[in-house]
Amino acid sequence: MGHDETRKLSDEYEVSNILGRGGFSVVRRGTRKKPTTTAGAGDKTQTYVAIKTLRRLGPSSASAGSQKSSMISSAMGLGLGFPTWKQVSVSDALLTNEIVVMRKIVEDVSPHKNVIHLYDVCEDQSGVHLILELCSGGELFDRIVAQKKYTEVGAAAVVAQIANGLAALHKAGIVHRDLKPENCLFLNEREDSPLKVMDFGLSSVEDFTDPVVGLFGSIDYVSPEALSLQGGGGSVSTKSDMWSLGVILYILLSGYPPFIAQSNKQKQQMIMAGEFSFYEKTWKNISSSAKQLISSLLNVDPHRRPSAQEILHHPWVIGESAKQEQMDAEIVTRLQRFNARRKLRAAAIASIWSSSIFLRTKKLKNIVGTYDLKPEELENLSVHFKKLCAKGDNATLSEFEE
Ligand code: ATP
Repeated sequence: MGHDETRKLSDEYEVSNILGRGGFSVVRRGTRKKPTTTAGAGDKTQTYVAIKTLRRLGPSSASAGSQKSSMISSAMGLGLGFPTWKQVSVSDALLTNEIVVMRKIVEDVSPHKNVIHLYDVCEDQSGVHLILELCSGGELFDRIVAQKKYTEVGAAAVVAQIANGLAALHKAGIVHRDLKPENCLFLNEREDSPLKVMDFGLSSVEDFTDPVVGLFGSIDYVSPEALSLQGGGGSVSTKSDMWSLGVILYILLSGYPPFIAQSNKQKQQMIMAGEFSFYEKTWKNISSSAKQLISSLLNVDPHRRPSAQEILHHPWVIGESAKQEQMDAEIVTRLQRFNARRKLRAAAIASIWSSSIFLRTKKLKNIVGTYDLKPEELENLSVHFKKLCAKGDNATLSEFEE
């Protein structure tokens, strides 16, 4: 993969509209000006790309710009691994982490039908730009709720695609750690479009685990062992991704998540205890084979969860025991509501981070009022923010606590 600090993004790409925003990034559509020979794995002559710009956050990063630049270059370099992790702030650490994982994907996974391709990396003053395969087919749940016919067979095909991507990542020793529906995008608008697993900002390669990184994951999809990692115990493995897949599957077949509680603490306890059920009213028409698969994925003991490779042979996943009839209309209606609510919240949280409103807002209740966040979401933001501050952005901590 080419990485040359003297290359400018605008020399090689026409950058156009924003495709989405994340916590530390903005993703834009790009058009390659001329075919390049420095691209990484995948189709080197691809004209349309997605450009994910990872921004550095906070005053500590800005004041140490050149040092951080070389750190990112180091992360791109061969065989350097992750030597500087402990000295950098959370935001820079996350930024470097994504590049390290993407590099590993280029080396050991790409090209793969169900894993996003990284073509190239550029770095300039505005940040680091990941030149990625363009996924123009939309997010997983958006497509499902727009479908005329939604069946278990259709849901099983989705699970098979995600499992296929995970199997390749896991084989390469990569744990995604943030698997959720919004990190699964369709490559194109065709009905038979491949589904791509993406967003490796929180992922880890082999044994590399740090509880600080895990904090940024959305709790709904987080495994019990990842939660206990926050408390200093447990260890995250490829099986943690299988738990997240179990949560996605539960939502796909019911329209609501398996662990619902009033507070984050309560939800955490339910997850740790694996306390969920198949409410008769919603689940009565769902095949027992699907329920059996969910129960095995949502097993609190990671060793007893099936691997991605194993579920690729599961009778429900291959469509053998999955029902072909249209699912109950209420499931799709609930999924629609769940999806709309989730998108609104994600947009609010991304805008809080990216526009620095969060840094400027002096009172927590302003954030709750403006963005209609649930107490647990606010709690998450607050923890994340304090961790950031503790890792070097001290100038903003006092402002936050006012
Ligand atoms: P998060 O804070 O959710 O972890 P992030 O900062 O890691 O987000 P991404 O999730 O990778 O950012 O991207 C943000 C949004 O940009 C996505 O939700 C998606 O809509 C869009 N996006 C990202 N990558 C692509 C791509 N390759 N093709 C098309 N759209 C993309």
